[in-house]
Amino acid sequence: MPSVYNWQLGREMTYRFDHAAPQWQFAAVFNINRCLACQTCTMACKSTWTFSEGQEYMWWNNVETKPYGGYPQHWDVKTLELIEQAKPGGQTWGGNPASDAPYGTYGGSTIFEAASLGNVAVGYLPTDEEWTSPNIHEDSPVATTALSEGVSLPEHQTWFFYLQRICNHCTYPACLAACPRNAIYKREEDGIVLIDQDRCRGYRKCVEQCPYKKPMYRADTRTSEKCIGCYPRVEGSDPLTEGLPMETRCMASCPGQIRLQGLVRVDEDGTWAEDPDNPLYYLVREEQLALPLYPQFGTAPNVYYIPPRWVPRPYLRQMFGPGVDDAIAAYERPSRRAQAVLQLFRVSQSIIFSFEVIDGPKIAEINVGGRPLEIFDDTVVGYGRDGEEIVRVNVREPQYERPIQYLNTI
Ligand code: SF4
Ligand code: SF4
Repeated sequence: MPSVYNWQLGREMTYRFDHAAPQWQFAAVFNINRCLACQTCTMACKSTWTFSEGQEYMWWNNVETKPYGGYPQHWDVKTLELIEQAKPGGQTWGGNPASDAPYGTYGGSTIFEAASLGNVAVGYLPTDEEWTSPNIHEDSPVATTALSEGVSLPEHQTWFFYLQRICNHCTYPACLAACPRNAIYKREEDGIVLIDQDRCRGYRKCVEQCPYKKPMYRADTRTSEKCIGCYPRVEGSDPLTEGLPMETRCMASCPGQIRLQGLVRVDEDGTWAEDPDNPLYYLVREEQLALPLYPQFGTAPNVYYIPPRWVPRPYLRQMFGPGVDDAIAAYERPSRRAQAVLQLFRVSQSIIFSFEVIDGPKIAEINVGGRPLEIFDDTVVGYGRDGEEIVRVNVREPQYERPIQYLNTI
């Protein structure tokens, strides 16, 4: 089997196909710390793409409460068990983090390396029951102390958090590798992974071998379907942005302003081309504030998460890899530039390709972890594909006081 370089693992790994880098890659950063679990993203996606007969159980975007929730139920635990069986105790990381291997080197088996002869990856088909309850265990906490004790940072003893999930439009998609009909392809122009509905015969190998369980089978058409990355919007064919690439529906609708989506340039070897003024590159590669979900699966997912800072670290390290402690430290005491870039989430429907920070006055000095942290009212400017300014926001958010006569009205 060919060998490809997976920068998230810091090493080569086996994959069904040779590496073929797209020019641009669809990518996103989700800030878990800000999610309300309002499910607006879920309904924005459903009301756009999966409202038809036969799609009743399709939730291409879902938000689940961890650790107990999951859609389908137990998707992560089951796949973790499969790679654990292949190399017991092997899900460990070593080596020294470097610029091309920021999390060190993964020592265990990926889903591809754990596969038995004749399969491209390990996987399983969820049962009908596991697909029935998209928001099971919402807000159910783990309680290691009496609930009455309350909570305190840095880690809560009673905890849960919301995990927002879409297809990761992976660099090495397991769904694509698994398909015996070669019906799944990754677009050269943006890295979005699609299922060709004319070629699909509904064998469900993609459902079986995607570790994130994001392809879903549609019984009435006997084909599988999955998140299409709102590609008409990303292509700029929505009239609202007059031809400019546009964020997906789930990103653009988020009231918690937790999501930032865009496109990053990719080098020949599959790593992200150096582009420190691209907000996604900046957050993922420069600051390493956001981390991939279960990088050990080996598909090189392209949705990155700013981990929740109150959750016990061992759980987070298993979920996001060894970069968790540094990412949380960087989020708790964000650099001056990061404070500005974090303001770009959900302020524009147009995709922001680059940004610039204009210095403003110092407005506060606060104490974080016993050390002072300066806050500046800098201005961050977001630019579109062709270098045009599309948004300008300040670190200090505007405040509006409701006039006394409207206090109890909306
Ligand atoms: S819309 Fe945003 S805040 Fe609401 S559940 Fe989705 S990701 Fe969370
Ligand atoms: S998340 Fe699953 S469905 Fe999406 S590209 Fe990766 S392997 Fe394919």
